[in-house]
Amino acid sequence: MGMNESGGEPGASVGNGSIEVVTGSMFSGKTEEVLRRLRRARIARQQVQVFKPKLDVRFGRDKVKSHSGAEFQATAVEACAEILDRVKTDTTVVAIDEAQFFDPDLTRICDRLAQRGVRVIVAGLDQDFRGEPFGPMPLLLAQAEHVHKLHAICIVCGQAASRTQRMIDGRPAFYEAPIVLVGGSESYEARCRDHHEVPHQAEMLAED
Ligand SMILES: [Zn+2]
Repeated sequence: MGMNESGGEPGASVGNGSIEVVTGSMFSGKTEEVLRRLRRARIARQQVQVFKPKLDVRFGRDKVKSHSGAEFQATAVEACAEILDRVKTDTTVVAIDEAQFFDPDLTRICDRLAQRGVRVIVAGLDQDFRGEPFGPMPLLLAQAEHVHKLHAICIVCGQAASRTQRMIDGRPAFYEAPIVLVGGSESYEARCRDHHEVPHQAEMLAED
């Protein structure tokens, strides 16, 4: 049915709901890829709505913006159940960004929308900084008709990076480090499996 032109991206067919997941580490271009799909959907005269969790305030509350500067209007929601209430009857494409921060109920929401004939595009980190499955993403990956896993470039060796390295005060963050850091400076890097470091606190103390 022509569903697989251009690298696994399905065509914009109305009344044929599906779930697409765009995933990968930080800096892998997930948001850019979603925005590209949304631009194409708009050209195809699809009615598009974009949602994201309210806690993501990186680029303001009413937009989804890629690192390269492209942006799309988005609705920030407190809980993913709100998405069902806010999707308009004539909407044919729903994109959900930063999906890893939503609760597991997101899988039900996406399923309901797809059953209604909506093309659902979900973007999110597949792994947290520890390299472990992140929030509802593993379930969504299983549910999806189409999965596109993107890679960044490892800043150590230049190979494809599948992981997100968390740094605190210039050193790899402990496995046990709190998700929300109080004090200290925090940053993230893309790394391959070999260069992804997640020391346990006990090992680090033993070294000192
Ligand atoms: Zn590497």
